[in-house]
Amino acid sequence: MKEARVVIMGGGGVGKSALTVQFVRNVFVSTYDPTIEDTYRKMLSIDGQQCLVEILDTAGTEQFMALKELYIKSGQGFVLVFSLTHLASVNELGPLREQIVRIKDAKVPLVLVGNKSDLRSERQVPREIGTNLSKAWGNVPYYETSARKRVNVEEIFIDIVRQCRTYEQQANG
Ligand code: GDP
Ligand code: MG
Repeated sequence: MKEARVVIMGGGGVGKSALTVQFVRNVFVSTYDPTIEDTYRKMLSIDGQQCLVEILDTAGTEQFMALKELYIKSGQGFVLVFSLTHLASVNELGPLREQIVRIKDAKVPLVLVGNKSDLRSERQVPREIGTNLSKAWGNVPYYETSARKRVNVEEIFIDIVRQCRTYEQQANG
């Protein structure tokens, strides 16, 4: 697989843009602009194979359902993010995953991410909530990340690209 199209989704303010920019440019964006929606590209070498990863960073507010559906159709792999400091942000992901599964299929490449692990004293979501959700979703990989400290940032994107590869290989028999 030479290219992988990844879509990063989740509620507003959970850190989708910070994770994407940290991964692609190695910097932490401390400001919050909920309207930024952009596509980023980065070459990754995984298991000795080069892959151009294209990441669509969505703006989360999606009043336009048709647009959201278009994003999902265009993506091969999905990074679903909530904030470890905001319990309600977990609840947004169930319906989102259902929509993705409906548009793609049940084996769609997916990772579940609890972000802002560096904000320990503000934590509202225990690890078990993440691991239980991951089990409920058929054991999708669950990562706790910090875009600020660059913890598990590479890992989530490597994982999703590996999954995209496996998925494509299976699809091609
Ligand atoms: P988005 O709406 O999901 O794209 O959220 P952003 O990436 O814009 O992040 C929202 C706010 O949370 C910004 O002020 C970020 O700097 C901050 N933020 C994002 N990730 C982290 C993190 O891992 N740790 C901390 N401490 N702050 C973060
Ligand atoms: Mg954003």
